[in-house]
Amino acid sequence: MLKVLKREFTCPHCQNTFEITERVAINVTLDPGLKNKVLKGKIFRHTCPNCQNEVMVLNNCMYHDLEKRFMVYFMIDTPKREYRIPIGQDGFGDFGEQYALRLESDYNRFRERIRILDTGFDDRAFEITRYLVLQELQKKMPEAEELYFIGTPEGLIRFQIIVKGKATRHLDIDVNLYEKVRNIFEKFPESHETVNALRRMDKQWLNDTGILERVEKIFDAESTENGRSL
Ligand SMILES: [Zn+2]
Repeated sequence: MLKVLKREFTCPHCQNTFEITERVAINVTLDPGLKNKVLKGKIFRHTCPNCQNEVMVLNNCMYHDLEKRFMVYFMIDTPKREYRIPIGQDGFGDFGEQYALRLESDYNRFRERIRILDTGFDDRAFEITRYLVLQELQKKMPEAEELYFIGTPEGLIRFQIIVKGKATRHLDIDVNLYEKVRNIFEKFPESHETVNALRRMDKQWLNDTGILERVEKIFDAESTENGRSL
């Protein structure tokens, strides 16, 4: 598969035109040094040779981790919910079961998706957990819009609470909550994925599949039995 694309670019600071090399495919199993560059947001940065200013130039990019068995395609601003991989081309098509194939159209979500999968989470169970936590949070803090995953310090899952599109304070949850959700989700038929298309894994997926309510029902039944709650 084609890994880089060269094109002319005009610097917005000094109007100098220079050639930039865009990465359109990143395989971190074959090229491990690139992982940190992606996570740190450096992969789309280019330095103007004339004025030395750094500019961010986003481009569509496929991120692939063969070992951890996931692929995330960053397709800028696409409204698509699914993107079919041309089977048999460029070595695609032999994924087997439980290969996460994801589609993202927002740069921050692209990096977040990689972090979630790179940490070793089943991102479907992760999304269920995220929205269960968000629902609970919104009862006390209705202005909270989203939770953005930052990392896993000391057995916790750390989110940043997004209010009016801006990152505010942190929210930590016990990783056990995710484990519980994953155990429930594993029994659902949706946990067996068809693996020939890159798909979005987001709030709409939870709504379309009705998964959130199904998990909640099991949670409620269990907590009535055990006197515990979320
Ligand atoms: Zn310049």
